[in-house]
Amino acid sequence: MSARTYEVRTYGCQMNVHDSERLSGLLEDAGYVRAPEGAAEGEADVVVFNTCAVRENADNRLYGNLGRLAPAKARRPGMQIAVGGCLAQKDRDTIVRRAPWVDVVFGTHNIGHLPTLLERARVQEEAQVEILDSLETFPSTLPTRRESAYAAWVAISVGCNNTCTFCIVPALRGKEKDRRPGDILAEVEALVAEGVVEVTLLGQNVNAYGSDIGDREAFSKLLRACGRIEGLERVRFTSPHPRDFTDDVIAAMAETPNVMHQLHMPLQSGSDTVLRAMRRSYRQDRYLGIIEKVRAAMPDAAISTDIIVGFPGETEDDFEQTLHVVREARFAQAFTFQYSKRPGTPAAVMEDQIPKEVVQARYERLVALQEEISWEENKKQLGRTLEVLVAEGEGRKDDRTERLSGRAPDNRLVHFARPGEPVRPGDMVTVDVTYAAPHHLLAEGPARGVRRTRAGDAWERRNAGEGQKPAGVMLGLPTVGVPAPSPVPAGGCGCD
Ligand code: SF4
Repeated sequence: MSARTYEVRTYGCQMNVHDSERLSGLLEDAGYVRAPEGAAEGEADVVVFNTCAVRENADNRLYGNLGRLAPAKARRPGMQIAVGGCLAQKDRDTIVRRAPWVDVVFGTHNIGHLPTLLERARVQEEAQVEILDSLETFPSTLPTRRESAYAAWVAISVGCNNTCTFCIVPALRGKEKDRRPGDILAEVEALVAEGVVEVTLLGQNVNAYGSDIGDREAFSKLLRACGRIEGLERVRFTSPHPRDFTDDVIAAMAETPNVMHQLHMPLQSGSDTVLRAMRRSYRQDRYLGIIEKVRAAMPDAAISTDIIVGFPGETEDDFEQTLHVVREARFAQAFTFQYSKRPGTPAAVMEDQIPKEVVQARYERLVALQEEISWEENKKQLGRTLEVLVAEGEGRKDDRTERLSGRAPDNRLVHFARPGEPVRPGDMVTVDVTYAAPHHLLAEGPARGVRRTRAGDAWERRNAGEGQKPAGVMLGLPTVGVPAPSPVPAGGCGCD
């Protein structure tokens, strides 16, 4: 009998992207195989939704998707549908009540139980709903199928101790839990041994790392320890909270060569009044103070952010304060969001919700300002020589001139002319920047050099079928391959 096929659909933030790698690893460990790329809707034997609870209509989207699968399920009773992630953690058995053709509902704290729950639902011919209120085991011990051969997510903590009034994460992912530094470093070393050259340390509140293990400087120590791992070329982290951005972290970034001078630091609002209403526990001056310190220590740092426009009670003056910070901070990039009510958050029931047209108008002004600044900041890169990590699948769709793409050390997207010699994703190419656009750089001239890396070798092994076997499905051991982490717009820390 041929192996059952699976498909994992991921919504939301980096934490969910990483959890989906675990879900794929678990299923492959249990003998499932991934459904072929582009398989028709409902063709896979098991469809898993890893959901996000952030957007106002997140649930409508889920039930819409489940509705579209109902005919396929009716045609193939052996097919199974599972719903996990933040919306499952929030809605629990409401999901099987609204979509009785769903077989399994699991939460953010028990992703490891998916294969067992699928089997139980199949044998008992009854939907299985299992939601835990706290984490059993740190997900890093679970098998993983990573999506890329040269870059990896490494979770260092889950959950969050903050209580931002617009955010549902603490309610769904629980209080912060930190992994032991030794476990993290062991995972990073094993990844590097497999050919990975870039890791992104992941946490809802990554720089609060250590609060759970009683060491306030644990995060800067971790960055410095990553600096001592031979073969690890690039270290990134997401997402820090301005309140926990301490001098020891800035010093560790500046003094550790493989820690990239790139920082994603959600601002949310520039107004102290709105920050107070959001319960963001820092104010405008502290935020700008951190930016100043970062720039003093790393003048070339690329800083990006998240901003919410139209938070309840936001006045025109408040909004002007946000524009003021944006002008001062000179962000390389900003992920901007129109405030949307999140059921279950304090902000959703606040007075003075802002009319949509006012929010829309402010949003457009903010986007226009940031677009200008992003472009001016990118123009400062003209003439610079950059070493670009060649990326998989980020090439320009419309480009018939065969340009390749990759990420500069500060994570800027660079499109460059294909060098005369073969390059693979994971290799490094040195190029000169000849043109700057608002959201990418171009290097149209010949490459200055190509550095073939062990990451490129790992990519080649994997794509020559050698790495295809779910090598990673050895319990707890990291594997080859993870999606090239780049700031997924959906989300700073709390999935803004
Ligand atoms: S926005 Fe971020 S820091 Fe605030 S509660 Fe949500 S996850 Fe925590």
